[in-house]
Amino acid sequence: VRRRGASGVGPAAGPRAPCRPGSGSGSGSEPGPGRPRAAAAAAAALGEAAGPGLPDEAGLAGARQLQLQEAAGDPDAPPKKRLRAAEAAEAAAAAAAAGSGKLEERLYSVLCCTVCLDLPKASVYQCTNGHLMCAGCFIHLLADARLKEEQATCPNCRCEISKSLCCRNLAVEKAVSELPSECGFCLRQFPRSLLERHQKEECQDRVTQCKYKRIGCPWHGPFHELTVHEAACAHPTKTGNELMEILDEMDQSHRKEMQLYNSIFSLLSFEKIGYTEVQFRPYRTDDFITRLYYETPRFTVLNQTWVLKARVNDSERNPNLSCKRTLSFQLLLKSKVTAPLECSFLLLKGPYDDVRISPVIYHFVFTNESNETDYVPLPIIDSVECNKLLAAKNINLRLFLFQIQK
Ligand SMILES: [Zn+2]
Ligand SMILES: [Zn+2]
Ligand SMILES: [Zn+2]
Ligand SMILES: [Zn+2]
Repeated sequence: VRRRGASGVGPAAGPRAPCRPGSGSGSGSEPGPGRPRAAAAAAAALGEAAGPGLPDEAGLAGARQLQLQEAAGDPDAPPKKRLRAAEAAEAAAAAAAAGSGKLEERLYSVLCCTVCLDLPKASVYQCTNGHLMCAGCFIHLLADARLKEEQATCPNCRCEISKSLCCRNLAVEKAVSELPSECGFCLRQFPRSLLERHQKEECQDRVTQCKYKRIGCPWHGPFHELTVHEAACAHPTKTGNELMEILDEMDQSHRKEMQLYNSIFSLLSFEKIGYTEVQFRPYRTDDFITRLYYETPRFTVLNQTWVLKARVNDSERNPNLSCKRTLSFQLLLKSKVTAPLECSFLLLKGPYDDVRISPVIYHFVFTNESNETDYVPLPIIDSVECNKLLAAKNINLRLFLFQIQK
């Protein structure tokens, strides 16, 4: 396990990178990122790890060191010995002290996120002691801390971290952008300027779709298998009747999407529409095991008073132990009505937020007896987006209410 988030749950990140030279991984006993890995590797290579009080081992280490020196300088040394020397050289290269490794490779371990050990792809944050965290890990740590009602801390030095205590490290961000980066498909290294084109047009492993996907072929796979598939693809030989069926199915899913937009447009023609910015604030339940929930202050829309509540992972006991994060919400009518109030409602992102929500319209008939909706999913596109909301102080969204009049 390479990740070391406070909860042991790593953030959802991109594809895992393979072992990186110089990061000391693959040995199965990787020292924590808090310790200088390279130095530890070098120490191990030189046998310093044996510790004092073990003269035999210390002597052995000394002998080995001598052996390595000999091997390195002696081209006629037996192959086995030379191999060992090569291994040691590699470890030593990892240590910046040796100075013989490629600069780029040494920089990886210097500039990587101390939580996920990947090179940060976007913003880089640092704790007050200078430990680096990629944006994804940083947000994840803040969200975790909120769920556990704890102060978020740096996994390396345990100092407090927050959006105001930590700052970006532009120098690291720029340095990373100068380093070659890895193709997400074939894992080969490319200068950053060429990577986009390589991933889009040149990579033999990039994911492609069959050219007959418009008539229903679901195949997708690496580019180097595409020609073979297309030559053998059964779709172009299907009869008109068979294709009609496939096309009908494809139309179905389009129709569903169109329905949503059409219903939003028809709602916009209703006589009574109201909308407002709503701010969900975090609270704790008074239960034995407290739970995080969110609630907005009362607000008025359509001349009625309302409150919105939201909860994390449907009040799962320990949402911090799960990588999957969801939010669901409930709309409560706080004022009395003289007649049933039938409404459609819709939560969208607020004007100054960048969370991604796919709109879903919900319906409910509010009466004085039944004045709260069930909890319904807040359709945030994924857990990463959800963590963004949790890490923020408050959640700002916009609520639309459409009164249905018969
Ligand atoms: Zn990270
Ligand atoms: Zn720190
Ligand atoms: Zn590639
Ligand atoms: Zn095909």
